[in-house]
Amino acid sequence: MSLEPVERFGLKVMSAGFLLGEDQALSLPASSITFVLNQLARQVLWGKLDYLLVDLPPGTADVQQHIVGLLQPSGALIVVSPQDLAHLDAKKVISMFGDAGVPILGGVENMHGLVCPHCHTQLEIFPSVRDSRSIWSSGVKKLGEVPFGPELARHAEQGRPLLIAEPDDAQAERFRQIAARVVTALGAPPSLAAPRPTAPWVFQVIQVIDAGDSRW
Ligand SMILES: [Zn+2]
Repeated sequence: MSLEPVERFGLKVMSAGFLLGEDQALSLPASSITFVLNQLARQVLWGKLDYLLVDLPPGTADVQQHIVGLLQPSGALIVVSPQDLAHLDAKKVISMFGDAGVPILGGVENMHGLVCPHCHTQLEIFPSVRDSRSIWSSGVKKLGEVPFGPELARHAEQGRPLLIAEPDDAQAERFRQIAARVVTALGAPPSLAAPRPTAPWVFQVIQVIDAGDSRW
């Protein structure tokens, strides 16, 4: 079985969601989900890639552990919301990656306040996470913060990334900075990195843990 990825704006995308009906859930046992993820990574006709990002739900359960074993990611990017529980979950994930020898590239705080579209004041929505409880206190480097943005949400709903629709927007600049910092954290540019023997088509794999995302 070979699958063609969907390509938009120079990015190739594949999701289990593309293979299911719009309102169909991926209700499979963990072992089968791992099989599907492996198919998505290896049976898709990716062509030459600079980076492969794998977006995973939070947790340190079977699926995450299998993916780490199967894909041998070059690094993990941790995405947390500014909530105590999100940081607590992220710490477990960080420890799982540590045990597997996957370097933590850094963290991004998502839903970091709301920028008022009228006066551009940033409003805090969640009470701040105590330093002693946050992942930043355990040595994870903060690569950026992404506040809620009505513009971002509006463009996303219309299927146009903010970076394309409004490249000069402050929010777009935040994404560019985070991307640049992730590339720096990965080290050598992909063209210089040695291909991995188990997956020669993968130059770099970033595992993205998004605490607010349950698409899988
Ligand atoms: Zn205002």
